[in-house]
Amino acid sequence: PTPLGPTPKLVIDLERMQQLPQEKAGPLARYVATIQSQRGDYNGRVLSIRQEDLRSLAVIYDRSPADLTEELINWGVLDPEARRAVDAF
Ligand code: C2E
Ligand code: C2E
Ligand code: C2E
Repeated sequence: PTPLGPTPKLVIDLERMQQLPQEKAGPLARYVATIQSQRGDYNGRVLSIRQEDLRSLAVIYDRSPADLTEELINWGVLDPEARRAVDAF
């Protein structure tokens, strides 16, 4: 058992995402819209995504999962806690 607790969830801040310039957030926004549509979950301020979705997003952005996580934290879309979720890969 680690003192840091369980792996944190990857929670996308949808309001922040909508404030970002299209050329940055576009692929993320399309991916998120697909998940919302599959779940029928349209009204949230945030969206919890799967760990494996971060891998897919990393491929889309042509980055490593760790690099993309840093970028998403810089954009304010992910909480810095998310670093621990990627460490668990
Ligand atoms: P599925 O993967 O066959 O999942 C069927 C249902 O199992 C989901 O219906 C949900 O109620 C539940 N489920 C599966 N995995 C999880 C999980 O990790 N956490 C929670 N809370 N529930 C889980 P739902 O939500 O209506 O999704 C329907 C389908 O939409 C899913 O079928 C999957 O194909 C896709 N989907 C939805 N959300 C995501 C996502 O975040 N990432 C990916 N890759 N696919 C998703
Ligand atoms: P949590 O996962 O820490 O989520 C806290 C709050 O963030 C949720 O409060 C909700 O307002 C928002 N939130 C997080 N992820 C999503 C998302 O993917 N879509 C939307 N629309 N909102 C999201 P809420 O709904 O009152 O849920 C409180 C807690 O209850 C959640 O804490 C979680 O522990 C549990 N919970 C709620 N729904 C589900 C579910 O479908 N599956 C599982 N496994 N747990 C759930
Ligand atoms: P959560 O619902 O609290 O689930 C936490 C972890 O438990 C998931 O991490 C996954 O490893 C496992 N898990 C939960 N339900 C299922 C299930 O039905 N089938 C399988 N195979 N594993 C399950 P993961 O995948 O990283 O997902 C993180 C969070 O993303 C979930 O937290 C949930 O909030 C959201 N999520 C993921 N997939 C779905 C989905 O299909 N539908 C919905 N509504 N939410 C999802």
